[in-house]
Amino acid sequence: MILPGATLGVLGSGQLGRMFVIAACRLGYRTAVLADHPDDPAAQVANEVFLAADQPVAAAAELARACEAVTLEFENIDLAVAEAVAQHVPLHPGPRVLHIAQDRGEERIFLDSIGAPTARHRILESEADAVAAHAELGSDLIFKTCRSGYDGRGQARLHAGSDAAEAFRSLGGARCLAEAVVPFERELSVILARRESGETAVYPPFHNVHRRHILDVTEWPAPDLPAGAAERAEELARSIAEGLGMVGVLCVEMFLEADGNLLVNELAPRPHNSGHVTIEAAWTDQFEQQVRAVAGLPLGATGPRQPGAMVNLLGDVFEQGTPDWARALAHPQAKLHLYGKREPRPGRKMGHLTVLDTDPKRAASAALVLREQLN
Ligand code: ATP
Ligand code: MG
Repeated sequence: MILPGATLGVLGSGQLGRMFVIAACRLGYRTAVLADHPDDPAAQVANEVFLAADQPVAAAAELARACEAVTLEFENIDLAVAEAVAQHVPLHPGPRVLHIAQDRGEERIFLDSIGAPTARHRILESEADAVAAHAELGSDLIFKTCRSGYDGRGQARLHAGSDAAEAFRSLGGARCLAEAVVPFERELSVILARRESGETAVYPPFHNVHRRHILDVTEWPAPDLPAGAAERAEELARSIAEGLGMVGVLCVEMFLEADGNLLVNELAPRPHNSGHVTIEAAWTDQFEQQVRAVAGLPLGATGPRQPGAMVNLLGDVFEQGTPDWARALAHPQAKLHLYGKREPRPGRKMGHLTVLDTDPKRAASAALVLREQLN
């Protein structure tokens, strides 16, 4: 166990790192971050900042020497950076999990190996593979680059009559995952924390609605699930965490089909945007859970203290000038989180709003009204 007073490190300096740092601070830890810029969201609040600059591997090794354990906020980090850290201190999740989670192809091979259900898929290495997949998997397909896609970037949608070779080329001609479009009823995520001892604490599923490929609204606990779906989703996430030997926080994004069937979409081996609602709504939030898991402390309770909903605040809410924050703050059940980013660009995650209510759907409606009223 790494006890409070020790220094915990995080690779990355965005909002997820920031909220990890805040949770660690609350438990009496010191924190260090690997940042691109000294004014990044997590760098603003950490005790120590190591600038990646043009020597990220050396900076990461330096950070590791200042820490008792290190975690991360984003899986797409250079494996050389991860290995430089892991040489000095425990890195959770470690290089094996990162190797899998950084590459949709490797991730699918892993999920197949443990029998986790996913949409029908093929890994594409060439234009010929792309054409064959379009013929074999059905006409409605999505091609996703295996590496470094997020928020819908690096994806191409195909229909009957689409030119599959051209779609493959448009994504840069690198290895892709082709998968059938799932006519899902809903998108869910399951977040859990797992310690080295194997102790695992799973949150009830989150119901997520995306807009323009970016998470827009989360309701928690996911309301009106078919009987048994929550338990099956939690069990599925648990088996994935075990298969990975995950230490830290893991999010499993899933599709729920009309017949109640669950399919895994993708994995994030770190806190997830859908879990932000746990900060107010759960007994233990996902960032404190990450601190506990990484430090080897007992995990906290994951049940809802009160149901709630979260809406994301993207740079778009700044389009007509500074949003009317006072309006949101005046609502007694609302909580405003801003990440300290100076430049609001469209699509950039600037903050989020959480509303608590005994009914998570009513919470979501209220949060959406509040967001509307920001300008
Ligand atoms: P993230 O920001 O979550 O990392 P991402 O860009 O890595 O997103 P995905 O999660 O794979 O990509 O896809 C983004 C969204 O696109 C999904 O949440 C879902 O709404 C939609 N989507 C992805 N794959 C499928 C599919 N096979 N069928 C239907 N919709 C899909
Ligand atoms: Mg996703």
